[in-house]
Order: sequence, then C-alpha cells, then structure tokens
Amino acid sequence: MTRRYLQLALPSPLRQTFDYILPAKMDPPPPVGARVRVPFGKQSLLGIVLAVNEQASFDEAKLRPADEAIDNEPVLPDSLFRLLRWAANYYQHPVGEVFDTALPVLLRQGEPLAAPGETRWQATRLGQLYPLDGTIKRAPRQLAALVTLREHPQGMIPPLLSGLGIDRPTLLALEKKGLAECVTQPPPASEQANASLREPPLSLSNEQQKAVSAVIDHLGHFQPFLLFGTTGSGKTEVYLQAIAATLARGEQALVLVPEIGLTPQTVARFRARFQTEIAVLHSGRNERERMDAWRAARSGRAGIVIGTRSAVFTPLARPGLLIVDEEHDLSFKQHEGFRYHARDLAVRRAQLEGIPIVLGSATPALESLANATAGRYELLRLRERAAGAQEPVFKLIDLRHQPTREGFTDSLLKAMAATLKKDEQVLVFLNRRGYAPVLLCHDCGWHAQCRRCDARPTLHRNPVRLHCHHCGAEGPPPRACPSCGSTDLRPIGLGTERVEDLLRVQFPDVPLFRVDRDSTRRKDALTNLTTAIHDSKAAILVGTQMLAKGHHFPRVTLVALLDMDGGLFGADFRASEHTAQLILQVAGRAGRAERPGLVLLQTHQPEHPLIHELITQGYPTFAERALAERRLLSFPPHGFLVLIRAEATQAELPAAFLQAIMDAAESLGHPEVQRWGPVPAPMERRAGRFRAHLLLQCPQRAPLRELVTALVPLIESLPGARKVRWSVDVDPQDLS
Ligand code: ADP
Ligand code: ZN
Ligand code: ZN
Repeated sequence: MTRRYLQLALPSPLRQTFDYILPAKMDPPPPVGARVRVPFGKQSLLGIVLAVNEQASFDEAKLRPADEAIDNEPVLPDSLFRLLRWAANYYQHPVGEVFDTALPVLLRQGEPLAAPGETRWQATRLGQLYPLDGTIKRAPRQLAALVTLREHPQGMIPPLLSGLGIDRPTLLALEKKGLAECVTQPPPASEQANASLREPPLSLSNEQQKAVSAVIDHLGHFQPFLLFGTTGSGKTEVYLQAIAATLARGEQALVLVPEIGLTPQTVARFRARFQTEIAVLHSGRNERERMDAWRAARSGRAGIVIGTRSAVFTPLARPGLLIVDEEHDLSFKQHEGFRYHARDLAVRRAQLEGIPIVLGSATPALESLANATAGRYELLRLRERAAGAQEPVFKLIDLRHQPTREGFTDSLLKAMAATLKKDEQVLVFLNRRGYAPVLLCHDCGWHAQCRRCDARPTLHRNPVRLHCHHCGAEGPPPRACPSCGSTDLRPIGLGTERVEDLLRVQFPDVPLFRVDRDSTRRKDALTNLTTAIHDSKAAILVGTQMLAKGHHFPRVTLVALLDMDGGLFGADFRASEHTAQLILQVAGRAGRAERPGLVLLQTHQPEHPLIHELITQGYPTFAERALAERRLLSFPPHGFLVLIRAEATQAELPAAFLQAIMDAAESLGHPEVQRWGPVPAPMERRAGRFRAHLLLQCPQRAPLRELVTALVPLIESLPGARKVRWSVDVDPQDLS
C-alpha cells in the first residue's frame, strides 16, 4: 500500500507546516480541519490537518507517524478554515499559532468537539453498503446496531441508541471497522435557535428604518455596510432589528464589541429583546464557559453570539449576519503574537460566508470612511439622536492666562456646581489613571524614572507607590531625593486619583465615582459602579476612556474634558484621528435623554484646526481633511504599511538585525516599496529591552505583500534571528 502523509499546522513559532506519516489505523484518514495528536520532540502536540498528501514535502526518513485522530469531522466550518489560512498568509504569522489563537483552550487540550448530547451516530458510506450477510453475522450486536443506524440516515443521539439497547462498546467496534461514525450535527430545526421576541421592537425613525431595510435586503449575500450614526442615534436598535430578521430566516448573528463595550448592560439589552440563547465570549469568562459558548455557536443552538476581538473566530452553524460595533475601536487589533485586526477579518469572513456585515460607529475609522466613499461599503447614516434627544453643545475654555486649581478653571467648577444643583450628573474625563504622572524634586529637578523603561512611573495614592504603566514595575516612592537628599518631592500633573481628591473637597456632599482600570480591577466592580451611577441623582463621574465608550447614563448633562492637548501633538500618524474619536465619544455621553447636554473642553490650543473643525463642523469634515493629509503622505488608507519590530537586551542588536533585514531585502527588488529605518522605537527601552523599527511603505498593497512574503523566510534564516525578538506587523495600528 502506498504511504500517505498528513500535513499539519502545529502550535509552533516556526513558519512552516509539519508532515507526519498517516498510520494504517487511521483509515479512513481524518478529514481536513480535524485534530490529530502527534509526537513532537519529546512532547505530544495536537495539530490541525491541512491536507492529506501522497507525497511528503520533507525527508521521508525523518518523518514519524501520527499517534491518534481526535475528530472525525473538521473542527471549523470550511469558511473559517479558509479565513484562518488566509490570515496566516496575510499577517505573515505561523499557521499553527493562528489556529491556536482561534480555538478555545480546552479544544486545544483535546476536549471532544461536541458536548455530550450534541453527538449523533450514523452509518458511514461503507456502513451503508456493507453486506449484512457476511462476517458481521458473527457479531450479532454489531449487526443489529448497524441495521438500526442504516434505518436512521439523519443520525441518532446516544440516549436514543441506549434506549434501544445499543451500547457504546458496540458502536465503537463499528467505528473501528469504519462502518459507523460519531459526528456533531446542527440540531434539527425544532431544536434550533428561537426567533421569537421577548419585547416588541421600538418603532424606528426614518433613517433607522432605511438602515434596517438595506441590511435585510442583503441577507444571504455579501455586502459590507458602514453604519455611521452619532452617539445615541439608535445604532443598537438597528442591529437588534436586523438580527431579528436574521433569526427569522433560521440564521445566526455574530456581534463583535470592543473589550470595554461588553458590559453586562449590553448583553442585558440583547437578552431583553430575544428569546434565543445568546453565547457570550470575552476575556472575563473561564475556559469552561468559553467552550460552552463556542459549542452553542457551532451547533446552531445560540441564535446570537456576542464577543470581543477573538470571537471573530467563532464557528456558526448557519451564519446570517456579522456586526462590528464601535468598529473604530483600537481593541479590535491584537497587539502581540498574531497581530490581526478583528474588524478587517470580519469583513473578509463575511465575504467568505456570503453574508452582510455592518460596521457601526459614531466616529468611523478613516479606513472605513474611505471604503464607503470608494463604494466598497454602503454608507448608512443616522444623523439624529433617537427618541428626541439632542446633540450636545460644545464650548471651549481657553486655559491661557487662566488660574486653575488642580487643572480646573473657575468657569468649569461653576458649571459643575450649577449642573449638580439641578440633580444632574457631571462626567469629568481625563485619560490618565493614578495620582500624578511625574514625581519631581523641587530643589534639584530630579524626577523619578523607571529603571527598565525610558518612561516615568506614575505616582499612585491608594496604595502609595510608583507604578510604571509600560512594564508594570512597582515600588514605594523615595522619601528623599536620591540626587540631592531634599524631601521636597512634588507630584506634577494630573491623574484621575488627584482629580478625585480635589473634587471631594470641592463638592463634599456629592457622590463621586471614579471609573478607571484601578477602580474596576475586582470582578463585578464596573457593574457595581454603573449600577450605583444609574441609581444616583446628582453625582460626579471621574474616569478614563473606560467611561467614554458605549455607556448610557441618562442623567449626565455636563461632560468636562480636562486635558486633550497631549493627543494633538502625538507623534503617531493616527494620533489626531484617535484624539478626535475620543473627544466625540466622551462628548457623546452628554445629554442622551430628555435633558440637553453641554461639553466643556479645556485647552491651551483653542485655535488648533483639529479642535476647531471638529466641534464646529463635525467628524465628517475633520475626517476629510485628515484623509487628505494621509493621501499626501501615502499613509493608510492611501498607502500600506508593514512594521518590522526588533528588541533585545543588548542595545546594538535590534538595529543591527534590522539593518541585516534591509540588506537582505536589497536583492528582492520592489523599489516602489519605501523603507524607513532602522530607527529606535519612540520609547527605545521598555521592560529592560532596547527596541528598534523598520517601516515598509507602499502606495499599493500588492508589491508590499510580495516583498514581505519573500522577506520573512530570509529573516528567519538570518544569523541574528535567534538573538533578538522580532515581529512583523501588517497594517500596524501604531508605530510604537
Ligand atoms: P447608539 O447605539 O447609536 O449609541 P442606542 O441604540 O444606544 O444608540 O440608542 C440611544 C437611546 O435611544 C437608547 O435608550 C434607545 O433605547 C433609544 N432609541 C433608539 N432607537 C429608538 C427609537 N426608534 N425609538 C425610541 N427610542 C429609541
Ligand atoms: Zn533633588
Ligand atoms: Zn517601566
């Protein structure tokens, strides 16, 4: 008999696939997409079958046989399998790690695909045709079981079989002979996701109605939509009604939300509307919960799947609709390992599945707007706030020549007092947690510095410590200046803890809630805070961007942005885009119910074109200008980037390694791809490692892709490749 080979993706950082000999006992061979257990060095690993080949692509003498097949069906549907292979290629990431990122941990550890009760036994093709008067007559129990299975071509669930006196050993014996198999199947229609509603839908505004109809008209076909709607314009209601239509077709919807957006309130809103099971996937869930949610999605039992970034890889039995809420959000990009962008992969997935996708935002990514302008996405606009709420009014407070107390101008404090007096709430936004960003010696000018980073550690008050937000290093602050011995050490600058201190003194009788990563570390802390905010009348909310996103606090009528100037001067090419998005998202918390909202923005730069244009003319005008700038510089979406990063504990290594990459790239042609670097990273030393970059840029995607595809194998074989940590970031979101 000729030998055959399994080509596998294994969880290994090597950018290659692995061949194993297909052992005779694996007959029929496991299908493409199934898991098999194989020896790997001294370990035993689970791999995914990519192909069964007649020929090996490696030296046959060195190949080992595979140990055991785990599945007799693919773990993922074909569309997802293809998405992952495409993504490995596109993001230049090892295919084994790509599969590893996509699958729940328990599945990677060998847990059966189907939950007990989701499996069905059926006769194989061989079993259907097998002569019943041959040798099998000598095993009457097997014969009886096979006859029964042949009578039930849809397959039979285990309890049904045991009810008929057919036991598991008999079925396993048939399986071994290749006559029967155990498969997971989507449940029959009667067990499928329930399409009925728990509460009636809201009656839609004209714009909402148009948006819902456009999406519904495209169910069953690939079509991307950009739902560009002001904060509070009722985008969620559009999602809910498009999902209802999807469920009514017997199909499922997958909803991606930012990490912070997946608050219990979001899920509660979906649960309040739909009868169907809702599978929830995010980092706060344990592996068992994730596995259950994954199975509910894969089997078709859950009509709706809601999850953060990696939920884009959740298999669906009957995919119908994809939604990416707050599509501009940075948390959709994975910043380490497999550096994928979940929004971009979602669009690709919708295309492979042949279904519509809705990207929703009040402040769309410039890329998405450009796609809409180019006609690749259909633009759906919601210009007005829902339910009669009005857009908030912006006012600038010129900080120049004004006295401030801990960052607050008098006029701001007055406005706050007036709002609180009306039993309304004030949201104070500052995107910096901790007490103060700098600890300075007033006598000699020394300031605290992280020992492992080119960065200053933040002073925290509760408990008192210096904490580097870049590497996590923590320690007590010095009692005296290490340079001159003075004890006059002063916190400089503002963090949310310091703002909290000041406001507690200014408004001693008003409840104050601080919402940032420190105050919400404990499980349920965020939920408790938001509940308390909802239950309060007059109140002050102090917070970072955690507070900016997705929340609906009806009593907030005043939003104060203490200091956004930093974002205006950010070195990164996306800095102004992100600042603009953040300003509008925070502002969008104001006046979401009947009472109108006011947004006060303190700035030293009242004439800065970004701020001025944004608040007088709105996001589309800002975006147009920002896009024009990007075009001039050939930056995305008017150009494509690949960032190669390298880091090492020795200072010279990263740049030398990147220079070697530059030299290697020399022979690969593609002069149209510009190469910038190597240069030190904006923060050259982080967590004790020196970091450097090489940026590849090209107005067209194809030459850049070709160059990088040819380059990566060369990088792997460079002598320095084992001495530095390096990575390739395709479509980087920032250049840090
Ligand atoms: P977005 O997702 O665009 O920020 P939401 O969907 O959260 O906006 O809607 C804001 C508020 O308006 C919510 O309280 C929602 O219930 C309400 N709302 C949305 N659409 C309608 C509608 N058609 N009629 C009445 N209220 C609506
Ligand atoms: Zn000093
Ligand atoms: Zn540090």
